[in-house]
Amino acid sequence: MKQLFSMLFAKKNSVALCVALFVANAHANINDGNNPMPVDVKIIREELNLVANKVKIKEQTLLIDSALLKLEIEREEAMLPADELYDGEWNNEFVRAYSNCQIPDSFRIDVTSFVNPFNGKITSHFGIRRRRFHYGTDIKLQIGDTVVAAFDGKVRIRKDQGRRKGYGKYIVLRHSNGLETIYGHLSGYLVDLEENVKAGQPIALGGNTGRSSGSHLHFECRFLGMPVNPEEIVDFENECTFDESYLFVKSKAQRYNYASARQAQRRQRLHATKQKTATPAAKSSYSPSTKKYLDIISDGKLHYHRVKNGDTLGAIAAKYGTTVSKLCKLNGITSTTKLKIGKVLRCS
Ligand SMILES: [Zn+2]
Repeated sequence: MKQLFSMLFAKKNSVALCVALFVANAHANINDGNNPMPVDVKIIREELNLVANKVKIKEQTLLIDSALLKLEIEREEAMLPADELYDGEWNNEFVRAYSNCQIPDSFRIDVTSFVNPFNGKITSHFGIRRRRFHYGTDIKLQIGDTVVAAFDGKVRIRKDQGRRKGYGKYIVLRHSNGLETIYGHLSGYLVDLEENVKAGQPIALGGNTGRSSGSHLHFECRFLGMPVNPEEIVDFENECTFDESYLFVKSKAQRYNYASARQAQRRQRLHATKQKTATPAAKSSYSPSTKKYLDIISDGKLHYHRVKNGDTLGAIAAKYGTTVSKLCKLNGITSTTKLKIGKVLRCS
């Protein structure tokens, strides 16, 4: 018994102590003298009790150990969700902050705990929109409507991109399933930076901030910074996910980024063409005299003269070292054309 007690106490947990007391009590009953048993039966029974209690203790210890481990994992997850996947990267500034992270070719994401951030009509889908790639799903709401967290997680970014810019007021949550969700165009925040949140917990108030025309929620999903189509995960109409998990495929996400880059290039080309055609149009909108002065400024070789009282073509030609016929040719006039005061003549 002494050996058993020392073994049990060595476990140093309350369940083990309870079991030890039970064993001690059972042992006392066997020897109480009121109901004497033959020695060999007593020994067998004692041995059986020992075995049974050992198994029991082992099971209890395993249960406690796994419960403690679960708590430990939850605590670590609360510190930094999906930290291993994100290779310790965590910042409060940038949505796409993971250029150094190793992105797996595919990854199965558990989406069982999803809660719809806001139940409203979809007003714009994920994909190319007005020559831009739209990385989220837009959900109609009224300013001040409550937006909730899609999964358990932690607030990584709580920021305002400013008036008419990008997301406006927005929140980025990192979730332990590896996803990050972004909530844009908000009017107010209900959570702090670095705060842990639960799925379905109110995190913000909907709005119309940033580059937004009309109040709505811009809801975006990303995995290691790569775009994920929320409408492939969520059945917004029925406010649930299509499946218990979602398979992230790197090549697909890369195609979204590629499409976006191509759109950006096209935009740049369009912008450049517009500017090219815009420049002469802008110049031609100047009055002829202003245009001529602009030409003088842009090209020092050109000489112009504004006609003053008493000027003659001959005097002007002499002043600029040219001839009357050249002046006439340059300005589309004849030697007999009456010079109006204030008229600008090209002289060279
Ligand atoms: Zn949007």
